[in-house]
Amino acid sequence: MTIAQSLLSLQDTDQVLALRRREYREIDTELSSEGGLPELRESFEKTKIRKLESKVESARLESDLAMLKNEVGELETRLYSGSITNVRELTAIETEHSLVRRNLAQIEESIAPAEVAAEHARQQLEDLTQELSDREKSWDTRQLELRHEKAKRGTAFNELLEIRNVEASQIPDEDLARYTRLFRSNRGIAVVKVDRGVCGGCAVRLPVGELTRLRAADGPIPCSCGRALLTEQ
Ligand SMILES: [Zn+2]
Repeated sequence: MTIAQSLLSLQDTDQVLALRRREYREIDTELSSEGGLPELRESFEKTKIRKLESKVESARLESDLAMLKNEVGELETRLYSGSITNVRELTAIETEHSLVRRNLAQIEESIAPAEVAAEHARQQLEDLTQELSDREKSWDTRQLELRHEKAKRGTAFNELLEIRNVEASQIPDEDLARYTRLFRSNRGIAVVKVDRGVCGGCAVRLPVGELTRLRAADGPIPCSCGRALLTEQ
């Protein structure tokens, strides 16, 4: 095998390795996302708190309602009992009575929306509980698949990497260094074929002098585009 052929073969292997590495990382990314479970759990916890808060709020309103009704009752008993003889006392009780009635009306108005909110939170929590349980089950399955796939791909990758290292060891250091540099800087393309005098990397026609130089060289020579090593083979 010529140096150019060895480099082309190494490039094929390296391109496959790059692809496999990407696929492996995708599996890793999916594994660390845990199927969106952390976000779902967070939303579940927040809804749980909201449900509790809305229940507390409803209970508070109910208790205020009972208390105010009681106060209204007591004030009315005093007002209509005929026991008040003093005008100032009567005025004071009447003022208090209308104040308490106003507060009572406000509480009565707040009760229905608070109950709606509590019911909404309860329903949401129920839905989230179901969703969380479904997603946890399906994630268990998916996680196993992914772990298995990751191990399988990891092994295959390492096997291919060994083949790659054997291939690389047969290439002169200088050529390998140039190839490696270009492979990294030029997104996985380091060696290109010259087709009818045209560089496969930059599509520019090579000057005659360059073609002569290429034919006389032992291995590939760098194209003036700086992005690739040229070979005719
Ligand atoms: Zn070129």
